Amino acid sequence: MPDTKSCADCHQLNCYHEDKIYPKFCLTEALDQARLEEIAAIYRGDTIDGKMARTAAEIEGEYYGKLTRVEETLVFARRIGAKRIGIATCVGLIEETRVVARFLQLGGMETFAVLCKVGAVDKTEIGIPDDGKVRPGTRESCCNPIQQAELLNAQNTDLNVIVGLCVGHDALFTKYSDAPVTTLIAKDRVLGHNPVAAIYTAQTYSKRLFDAERVAAL
Ligand code: SF4
Repeated sequence: MPDTKSCADCHQLNCYHEDKIYPKFCLTEALDQARLEEIAAIYRGDTIDGKMARTAAEIEGEYYGKLTRVEETLVFARRIGAKRIGIATCVGLIEETRVVARFLQLGGMETFAVLCKVGAVDKTEIGIPDDGKVRPGTRESCCNPIQQAELLNAQNTDLNVIVGLCVGHDALFTKYSDAPVTTLIAKDRVLGHNPVAAIYTAQTYSKRLFDAERVAAL
């Protein structure tokens, strides 16, 4: 990928309110206008994609700063007409999953949860050496996001919610899920599943993020 400037280099953000100026490398200005209009038509349309786009925007406007993400997830599911919610969950967050399921059920949803370890396939069976396990010498199942997705697909879920899947396993789950996927909990074993804390403290406690030697060695 060429190292060209993108939105991360922009300090105008003019595409938000159009009250500043667009930078020379602006992505908005370079867009294919016909395609942009086609996409806007999807958002206006009657498909589930349009419904999701408008519902997310409505919730943002209506509940800005008032509802937690857990609550927003229920409202979103309800408004897009979802009845069956799949929960792709992690063995380390099973208690949290029970809370989420209980809350969604209280909100009128049917829930179906599948744990990451479903299938109980030992890590060595997928090519991970025993000393690459968290606890070498023990039976330790690998995460199985494709199977999680397929089990939720078989349940005809309307919306799937990720509760703490690992980086990468979440990507695979999303790739194989038939239903749209939203993330409720992004796993971070160090920061209590609050990955943005490392970014908020990038100038202080997380300065190591900019230690070039260390980053290169990661
Ligand atoms: S689209 Fe243009 S104005 Fe918006 S953030 Fe990107 S570069 Fe900046």
